[in-house]
Amino acid sequence: MDERTLFHKIRDREIPAAVVFEDDEVMAFKDIHPKAATHLLFIAKKDRDFVPSIADLTEATAHVPLVLIRKAQKFAKEQGIDGYKLTFHVGKGGGQEVFYLHLHFLSEQKVKES
Ligand code: AMP
Repeated sequence: MDERTLFHKIRDREIPAAVVFEDDEVMAFKDIHPKAATHLLFIAKKDRDFVPSIADLTEATAHVPLVLIRKAQKFAKEQGIDGYKLTFHVGKGGGQEVFYLHLHFLSEQKVKES
């Protein structure tokens, strides 16, 4: 059985996505159903950083949300975006649909197209 989530497949370029940022650790791509002028999803790329949800964090993965927040902060600064919301949906009851930890980045300010 394929245990990989949709975001594994986006990470591995098996499913296309509009990637706006990527480095060794993190990838950010546009949400397909945007809830703001800019709606991005930040994910950690390394297999050892994989965790389904905030609810599943352990000592080994506790750094991951901070890595995502830090990259989002740097990305916003580079883009000149000074107002934004960062959200984690936690569990089905919290509106989480994809069980690959991701940080929602929402802003009414737009990303500069490269
Ligand atoms: P969550 O509800 O926190 O699990 O968020 C999952 C997000 O993934 C939702 O906002 C969806 O709109 C978004 N999404 C679903 N499929 C895709 C896709 N193929 N590419 C980009 N975003 C997607």
